[in-house]
Amino acid sequence: INMLRRPIRQTGFLLNLFSQSDAAASRILDLLNQKDSLTDVPNARNFKTLQHSIDLNHISFAYKDHLVLSNINLRINSGESIALIGPSGAGKTTLVHLLMRFYQPTKGNILIDNIPVSHYTLSSLRTKIGFVMQDPFLFNGSIEDNLRLGSPKATFQEVQQAAKEAQLDSFIQSLPSGYNSQIGERGVLLSGGQAQRLALARVLLKKPEILILDEPTSNIDSITDSAIMDTIAALMQDRTTITIAHRLSTIQKASRVFYLQKGFLIASGTHQELMKSSEDYKQFVSLNMKGSLSK
Ligand code: ADP
Ligand code: MG
Repeated sequence: INMLRRPIRQTGFLLNLFSQSDAAASRILDLLNQKDSLTDVPNARNFKTLQHSIDLNHISFAYKDHLVLSNINLRINSGESIALIGPSGAGKTTLVHLLMRFYQPTKGNILIDNIPVSHYTLSSLRTKIGFVMQDPFLFNGSIEDNLRLGSPKATFQEVQQAAKEAQLDSFIQSLPSGYNSQIGERGVLLSGGQAQRLALARVLLKKPEILILDEPTSNIDSITDSAIMDTIAALMQDRTTITIAHRLSTIQKASRVFYLQKGFLIASGTHQELMKSSEDYKQFVSLNMKGSLSK
């Protein structure tokens, strides 16, 4: 935990104890340890807006000696909604973690508006890139404090509005202490879906320049799901978005889809194009994506 305090304080957050599972906690420890080894270069600049594009040039990445991404080349233009798909273990999550500078690529470089991502301050990247993870990060503290993570200046009205849009407000209202309810061992334990909705509410508050969604509704049941999808669609409007997708509607709406397999970028293009041009893609989509294939 001491190890954790430093990087978290840097970004202005306070952490007491993990309320998440050990697995999630150890993943976060992993990330923070890595983060700690990545410091800002002298005269690092603040990332403010995405004017042009994000470029991955010849990106390879290995966890120790386990190669996970191999020579990835792709460009995401400002304003695009990109979907990233592929089998579990393909490297999708790793790829977006590289973008956030959780890790340093083993080879190649990532450019944001033609400047290496390593030349931006970590804090500006974390502020301007909103990230909804598969296992959201929660800490012991009130629900309100957890919602405010990343947006400490938000008013209570703004916090509640975000919770409403993420379909979490009525649940919070049903708790005896409402927004002051403590999350954690002695307090309220959130389900996976509720944790994801909380993470979504955080991003709604933050209004990030770039939005990254890592299977954001994978733990949310289908009843609340459609309302959440509307919220996500509104968030994606006019915002560069990268979604690690598991449903057909997302890839159909995406401006382009990148299909990864075993660390290789196998195909990229619109969903319609890929259905015609890539047998691998077509097979993967018809077997794995949620929702029916109309065409
Ligand atoms: P995806 O999101 O496409 O399912 P990941 O990027 O999570 O894929 O994982 C890609 C590969 O990297 C997998 O083989 C996974 O086991 C491995 N991996 C992921 N995270 C770590 C880590 N922190 N340490 C070591 N290996 C990891
Ligand atoms: Mg993943």
